[in-house]
Amino acid sequence: MNVLQDLVIAYRLLAEQGIIDAYGHVSIRSPGNPQRFWMARSVAPELVTETDMMEFDMESEPVDAQGRSPVNERFIHGEVYKLRPEVMAVVHNHSPSVIPFSCTDTSLRPIFHLSAFVGLGVPNWEIREAREGSDMLVRDTYLGASLARRLGPHPAALLRGHGAVVVGESLPIAVGRSVYLEQNARMQFQAEVLAGAHGAITFLDDKEVAAQVAWQDYGRFWKLVRNKMIKRLEAEKSA
Ligand SMILES: [Zn+2]
Repeated sequence: MNVLQDLVIAYRLLAEQGIIDAYGHVSIRSPGNPQRFWMARSVAPELVTETDMMEFDMESEPVDAQGRSPVNERFIHGEVYKLRPEVMAVVHNHSPSVIPFSCTDTSLRPIFHLSAFVGLGVPNWEIREAREGSDMLVRDTYLGASLARRLGPHPAALLRGHGAVVVGESLPIAVGRSVYLEQNARMQFQAEVLAGAHGAITFLDDKEVAAQVAWQDYGRFWKLVRNKMIKRLEAEKSA
C-alpha cells in the first residue's frame, strides 16, 4: 500500500464530501516509526498531492520541512498519537452539521448503523477550560494535550464552536467515521424535528453499538472511493 497516496485520497475525499473545508486535515502514523506521523503542508485539501506531505515528530514539529509551512493545528495530531498508541489515523474537521451539537446541551447519539461508533461516546472539549480568550485554534502542545485528554478512549470528540477530532485504528476507519459523524448529526437533527419536543427517537442501544463496532472497518466504503479517486488522480497527472 502506498500510504502517501492513500493520505492524498483521504484529503481529496473529505474535501469533496464537505467534511473538511479549506482548513481541515488528515494524518497517518508513519508505518516505519510509531513516533512520527505524516500530514499535508498548509494547502487547500482538494489540491493536495503526495509532494505536499510532511513528516512530524511527537512534538508535532516537522522532521524535514524543506521550506514548506506546516498547518497551525498540527498539535491536535501529535498529542492524540502520544496518548493513543493504537490510533493510526487522525482527522480534524469543521464538519458543519456537527458544530451545533458542540455548543448546545444536545449530545450526539448513534442514530444509524454506519455511525454506531457514536454510541462509544463523543465528548465535547471546551477550550476555555484550558485557556480563556483563545482564537479557538489548537496552536500548541498545551491545547493539543488538553483536547487529547478530553478525547480519552473515544472514537471522536467535538471542539466547542469549532469542529471535531476523529480517530481510527486505520485510515479508512478515521475517514469513514468522519463521513458518518456528519451524517449522524444531520439525521439526528432531522429526527428531532420529526419527533417534536415530546416524541421519542429510537437510537441504537449499547448491545447494537458493540455488535456493529466489532467488525465495522469501512472497507467497502474505502475501496469504492479509493478506486474512483485513483482514476481521477491519474487523469490529473496525464493532463
Ligand atoms: Zn480547526
